[in-house]
Amino acid sequence: MSKRAIIVLTAPSGAGKTTIAHRVLQAHDTLRFSVSATTREARPNETDGEDYHFMSAAAFQNQIEAGKLLEYEEVYPGQFYGTLKQEVDRSSPDAPVLLDIDVRGAANVKEIYGSEALVIFIAPPSFEVLKQRLTGRGTEDDASVQSRLQRARMEMTRSDDFDAIVVNDDLDVAVEETLAHINRFLSS
Ligand code: 5GP
Repeated sequence: MSKRAIIVLTAPSGAGKTTIAHRVLQAHDTLRFSVSATTREARPNETDGEDYHFMSAAAFQNQIEAGKLLEYEEVYPGQFYGTLKQEVDRSSPDAPVLLDIDVRGAANVKEIYGSEALVIFIAPPSFEVLKQRLTGRGTEDDASVQSRLQRARMEMTRSDDFDAIVVNDDLDVAVEETLAHINRFLSS
């Protein structure tokens, strides 16, 4: 198997990981986004095949049974998310791939790929800020915000599992730090 180059951004929901992922992808020539499969509904600003491959629970189950997922998690009750093997199999140091996945998925990818993966944990400046961001986003109903906050508490205790931590206080600084970690990893 040839060498892979897998960059994983992970964080509690609301830490700003997806914004950082978009900015990093814009700033980096060769990095490609790994489009995950999910059973959650698309948000109005999302495009099928670009943000996620949106699918029914039955279609997701078929992907599992066909062995097409590298890892998958029920991130929230009834909402499944998974990384497609084909997204990662095409990666190499010249064509690295960026995964935006939850902390358990990130730990699994690290376990499988070891030094071929760089896992960066994006931390919010504080739990209070995370709460404000999740409530202010307005894309989730109350139950979903509560479920995301509860999960975030667990995820924030896991930050030691990863290769680097970037605190997202100032977005521009966080993007620069993330890019620096990625470039160091790719040139090592
Ligand atoms: P959201 O619904 O806000 O887009 O994503 C919810 C959470 O699921 C985020 O932490 C996101 O990174 C994570 N996620 C997205 N795709 C995957 C995936 O393929 N595998 C895993 N384990 N988590 C994912």
